[in-house]
Amino acid sequence: MFNMTKNVVANLFSKSSTRLYPFAVRGHFEGFRGTLNINIDECIFCRTCMIKCPSQCIAVDNKAGTWTCEAMSCVYCGVCVDVCPTGCLSMSKEHRPVATEKQTMAYQGVPKKKKKEAAE
Ligand code: SF4
Ligand code: SF4
Repeated sequence: MFNMTKNVVANLFSKSSTRLYPFAVRGHFEGFRGTLNINIDECIFCRTCMIKCPSQCIAVDNKAGTWTCEAMSCVYCGVCVDVCPTGCLSMSKEHRPVATEKQTMAYQGVPKKKKKEAAE
């Protein structure tokens, strides 16, 4: 009983252990990985990210020049960012917004062959 009273009094006069979210938001930990982003103009459709993704949530069609990611299957491991040869993938410091439906990130770029043809 004495111990409990001691704790109650101590808690009454000490700083709160919780934050008043969303008014007080804690900063990110070092190495935090947020939303996955792609700069589709820099993508060469090599498919490395698709092959290395442990969740198999990336699909790259190098003929059509499409890059898609099933955002809700992504586990934020960062492997795709690390292996991308052009550095066109990155992870921002924001959490992905809450969603009530399945989300697919879908991007249309220009396949290497078409880029070559356009340059000629
Ligand atoms: S962060 Fe990991 S799980 Fe998410 S798309 Fe990249 S490789 Fe796949
Ligand atoms: S690894 Fe990078 S360049 Fe290759 S397909 Fe994926 S995003 Fe595009």
